[in-house]
Amino acid sequence: MFIGRLLQISRGSLTRSIHVSAKYNQAMGIDGNNILAESLKRQGIEYVFGIVGIPVIETSMAFQSVGIKYVGMRNEQAAAYAAQAIGYLTGKPGVCLAVSGPGLLHCIGGMANAQVNCWPLLVIAGSCPEDHEGIGGFQEWLQVESSRPYCKYAVRPPSPKLIPLHVERAVRSACAGRPGVAYLDMPATLLTAEVDEEKVPLNFYNAGPITLAHPDPALVDRAADVLAKAERPLVIVGKGAAYGRAEESVRKLVETTKIPFLPTPMGKGVVPDASPYCVSTARTQALLKADVVVLLGARLNWMLHFGQVPRFAPDVKVIQVDISPEEFHNSIKSEVAVHSDIRPFTEALTQKLASKKYSLQPSSAWWKALNEKQKKNTEFVEAQANDKSVPLNYYAVFKTVQASIPKDSIIVSEGANTMDIGRGLLLNNQPRHRLDAGTFGTMGVGPGFAVAAAMWCRDYAPTKRVICVEGDSAFGFSGMEIETMFRYKLPVIIVIVNNSGIYSGFDKEMMKDIQESGDVAQCTPPTALSSEVRYEKMMEMFGCSGHLCRTVEEIETAVKAAIKVTDRPSIINILINPQANRKPQTFNWLTESKL
Ligand code: ADP
Ligand code: MG
Repeated sequence: MFIGRLLQISRGSLTRSIHVSAKYNQAMGIDGNNILAESLKRQGIEYVFGIVGIPVIETSMAFQSVGIKYVGMRNEQAAAYAAQAIGYLTGKPGVCLAVSGPGLLHCIGGMANAQVNCWPLLVIAGSCPEDHEGIGGFQEWLQVESSRPYCKYAVRPPSPKLIPLHVERAVRSACAGRPGVAYLDMPATLLTAEVDEEKVPLNFYNAGPITLAHPDPALVDRAADVLAKAERPLVIVGKGAAYGRAEESVRKLVETTKIPFLPTPMGKGVVPDASPYCVSTARTQALLKADVVVLLGARLNWMLHFGQVPRFAPDVKVIQVDISPEEFHNSIKSEVAVHSDIRPFTEALTQKLASKKYSLQPSSAWWKALNEKQKKNTEFVEAQANDKSVPLNYYAVFKTVQASIPKDSIIVSEGANTMDIGRGLLLNNQPRHRLDAGTFGTMGVGPGFAVAAAMWCRDYAPTKRVICVEGDSAFGFSGMEIETMFRYKLPVIIVIVNNSGIYSGFDKEMMKDIQESGDVAQCTPPTALSSEVRYEKMMEMFGCSGHLCRTVEEIETAVKAAIKVTDRPSIINILINPQANRKPQTFNWLTESKL
């Protein structure tokens, strides 16, 4: 019976565009699926990522029939990750389409990730028919209530005629102010309900992009005064500056004032990592010693050690710029708090400082101290990176990957050591070219992000490549999305930095000894994964082959070969020393609680 239904649907898909236009010509009824598709199209939605099933199969086809791209994924969580990445890359929310009950619940991790990252996302899920509610309907669940804690806006349109209104609101809510998540609940009965097309406001207005919020000029003056008096100023560039497309003005600010800057992980590339003003290699020192910090679209949360002692100076003055005033003074009281988009603020500040003829001297004590630290830290990293002994260490792997890939690639990265060490060695010279585990530290985001990034490249930057650098544990969360990449011919280069474990693992012999030492579930270390897993063989599922590497030369050859492949993904599985570690840190990366 199920096969019969699918055949019927695929026959239907061949004729559906004719069917849909016939509906319009004869001014017949229009159903909820088509109202939803038309509404999304008219609000500028370009991409939907999802998994179909009852009751949203026809919904996905209605999307395609109005010209929206639909990408079928293998897990709703990955679909939600893909949809939010496209939202970050384009500034327009991507849609994640899911089935009822478990389908929507699988999206929740993705919704939380988008909300915590401040990225726009619109989730749409089918739900059980309204007349089956309360009597044990198929996949019945309280979907609007379940979504609400993860959303700025969560509703079930009360009638087909109101779908266009709620789509507009959902899209606007996702993008306006601090971006976030919107959820639309679509019961089967709403999706199939037919109404007279003339009574549906399909041409519902599109509010369009919201004009930029400009700073209060008095606050720009104060910020300039505070900066001009600083001895050790520092600019911190967050992913809010990247999302706000402020790259040009932030670059100009840094280049004209010569103030050192530090990008947050996804703030990388707003000002090129290769800029002489980037002090990432002296990060600890820069944070610790700065007397004035200009905080551009970043929160003083765990990633920036709350702006507090011991990682910051006790009397540091923060000039905090954010689109969301609720964020001001959150963990420490800011000296100047400016409610503004990053772009107009940085333009105004650059102008103001230029009128004061302000510029930090490269010979200043501050620059000298930072340069010294940079030199010392770089020497350590270089020594590690030049150690090509097998099994390889992380630094040698990343140095080789960085040297082999096109410099304008989008880097997707997740894993513990893989992401942390890779951040320093894999450089970004363009904004929004790094996608990683983010503020929520979510593992499993990589393949979904890479699918979205590769879709975006195909449509907007066809020669650009997506390099997805995964720890072996991280890859396991969403590895089956390799099939999605294959089906949609996305040439993602997946690099698995394989240490056979979470944080660290064991070589084959040691793992065997450990597992034979007692009950397997009692003695296998929770951080261990199977040793030397051949992830690259997943390419054989498609009649292709992947790359297994143990040496620097093998990595170079594999990356070169993968770059030549432009119509399918590649997997490069790099077996490194299972006990390889990162550089000893002055501070624990996670600031310890003092409670
Ligand atoms: P990071 O991870 O880089 O530290 P966060 O996600 O913590 O960045 O912070 C990003 C901040 O940027 C959020 O507080 C958000 O409100 C803000 N933001 C987003 N878009 C803009 C914009 N266009 N202008 C100013 N601030 C913005
Ligand atoms: Mg690992």
